Amino acid sequence: MSKTTEHIHPFEPDMLSVEDALERILGSLRPNELQNENILDTLGLILGEKIYAPFDMPQVADSAMDGYAVRYQDVSEANQNTPTLLSVIGEISAGEVPSISIKSKTAVKIMTGAIIPKGANAVVPFELTDELIRKGNLDQQNEIGILTTVGEGNNIRPAGENFQAGDLILDINTLLRPAEIGVLATIGKSEVKVVRRPIIGILATGNELAQLGHQLDPGEIYDSNTYSIASAIKNVGAIPKIIGIAKDTFQDTEKKILSGLNTDILISSAGVSKGDYDMVKDVMSKHGAIDFWSIRMRPAKPLAFGMLSKENGELIPLIGLPGNPVSAMVAFEEFCRPAILKLMGRTNFERPVIEATLMDAIHNHDSRRVFARVIVSRTNNGFEAKLTGAQGSNLLTSMSKANGLAICPEDVKMLDVGALVKVKMIDWPEDTLL
Ligand code: AMP
Ligand code: MG
Repeated sequence: MSKTTEHIHPFEPDMLSVEDALERILGSLRPNELQNENILDTLGLILGEKIYAPFDMPQVADSAMDGYAVRYQDVSEANQNTPTLLSVIGEISAGEVPSISIKSKTAVKIMTGAIIPKGANAVVPFELTDELIRKGNLDQQNEIGILTTVGEGNNIRPAGENFQAGDLILDINTLLRPAEIGVLATIGKSEVKVVRRPIIGILATGNELAQLGHQLDPGEIYDSNTYSIASAIKNVGAIPKIIGIAKDTFQDTEKKILSGLNTDILISSAGVSKGDYDMVKDVMSKHGAIDFWSIRMRPAKPLAFGMLSKENGELIPLIGLPGNPVSAMVAFEEFCRPAILKLMGRTNFERPVIEATLMDAIHNHDSRRVFARVIVSRTNNGFEAKLTGAQGSNLLTSMSKANGLAICPEDVKMLDVGALVKVKMIDWPEDTLL
């Protein structure tokens, strides 16, 4: 790894593994309650009820093509050279209820989705008739030449083909994607029970932080964590609630943390390391049961987790991320994303993991799990992963160029160029192409 601004810590036996830390966090969370939502607001949520079809779909047989509804027996001799002539007795468009029925040697012009008239048992697509040749010739429009034979039921979508009344069409705990939301609309359901979308509070802490829109005074930096974390929260499908910036005083940190308790999880950044001004942990200890952990990972070693008590006795989980912008994002990825997904009723928190050929070495000098920011691209026979430059936890651009986190295990001192490395994909290579 290239030069880093992080200090080299000696091996610390009390460090928690990534898995243990995650297990402790997930173990203290329960999925949110169910709530009725307009289906347009349910994308990415978990369905909280079983959905049964109230009717057959389609309700009656309809046409799969624009063409002519016929009796297949009438066109059993038809071919390109000797068309079978049928007299056209009407036309049915989608949405119309046909009043005509077909008798021998007759046809009805029909549109896709229109109800099949009585007597018809097949549809001939208009490309397989001589309709185009007849166009414009008024004398010939009350008959049609059929150029092909058809089988019984051809191009007819039978009633109940999609589903039948009483079918279980969406099971409870289904993830609602665009297709599922379409299925709900198909049965006319505009509201469903879903696991409530969580609201996640974000609090930045630090005397040096300036709000966007303010001039930077000497020594100040803009608060970027609030924005990267808020966006990461949206990516998971939850609602970010920005609390603002707390100064590094006990009073201000306490005031801001208490104002953020009307959320499902409160995420803070910075103020959890061992500096003199790191107030978050003092406030947390006063208002709840809080653990401070060193996690055997790089970046993002310091993390705080615990439950804050509200006045009504309710407990709100608090995850205190480290302050460095890359550490905050990697810790969000490892701990907050699964935590939020659990509140959302999800049970699988895994990102896709691929194996890639490493194009730059990754060094691991203190037996932590290294999450190196890499850009993964496809090759002829798989994937390759390149470091996105210097890997300091303050260098947010290393994250912005990355689509994955390459993982060097705790017990591996170095992964050399050419080694196969596991990469947790945050985006697919194609997703970052313009
Ligand atoms: P701390 O954990 O408070 O020691 O902060 C570690 C580093 O992260 C310091 O360099 C901070 O200036 C930086 N930092 C803390 N909070 C933010 C933030 N919201 N946006 C950008 N950088 C931050
Ligand atoms: Mg600070």
